[in-house]
Amino acid sequence: MKRGCISLGQVKCDDCQRIIPHPERYLALDREDGTTERFCVDCSLKRGYARYKMERGELVLTFMEEVVEEKDQAEGEEKGEEKKEEEKE
Ligand SMILES: [Zn+2]
Repeated sequence: MKRGCISLGQVKCDDCQRIIPHPERYLALDREDGTTERFCVDCSLKRGYARYKMERGELVLTFMEEVVEEKDQAEGEEKGEEKKEEEKE
């Protein structure tokens, strides 16, 4: 399973072998054999594990999380405006 994590400064990218400094994000990929691979943002993007999306005019990095089957895909994925305060003019 894939997890988006934040480095504490001791994580090494398994692809480009560079140390991922805090507070950079990385992707942890759990293999079936119990090992975990970690990829920095660049390598995640390169492998298609992460992508940028526009959010409120800013590019935001999102990691591809594996979809859990029992979860409704439409739910929670994009909750844009969760709290819309009432504005009276
Ligand atoms: Zn890398």
